[in-house]
Amino acid sequence: MNILDLLAEDGITPKRVASTRGGGYASACPLCGGDERFRAWPEQGDGGRWWCRGCDRGGDLIQYLREVGGLDFPEAARLVGKELDRCPISGTPRSVGKLRHPPWTPRESEPRPSAWSDKAALAAGWFHDQLVGPAGADIRAYLARRGLSDSIIRRGLEASTGGG
Ligand SMILES: [Zn+2]
Repeated sequence: MNILDLLAEDGITPKRVASTRGGGYASACPLCGGDERFRAWPEQGDGGRWWCRGCDRGGDLIQYLREVGGLDFPEAARLVGKELDRCPISGTPRSVGKLRHPPWTPRESEPRPSAWSDKAALAAGWFHDQLVGPAGADIRAYLARRGLSDSIIRRGLEASTGGG
């Protein structure tokens, strides 16, 4: 079954208007009637896709059956032969198996290059020295006004730099 079969059942015989990507067809719209504004591409997706320039509705076969045929999602899915993925608790359909995207999996990550972490440790040490040294007096005064005393700063930095 494809989109042209569904249109035929609704008494619409589209004209072929394009040959690219498996062909495009034009007809009156079964929803708004808009003359020749309805387009169908039977080779796209799973059984074809459709879109109306007049009423700006479109989608796949299931969407066609829902919008034009007034079916609910499970009925439409069943009619086009899709296996419904049901919630194991409530039994309500969640998605259509064949249309579901593959589950997302994280990409394998490379181990962190040691050059990067070596430089980061060097930088952290340098920042620490700057903050607790003479150059950090203004920053320490600012932090003290924000409630961070010298001893808290030193403790925190020692913890975050491994005591270095
Ligand atoms: Zn329309």
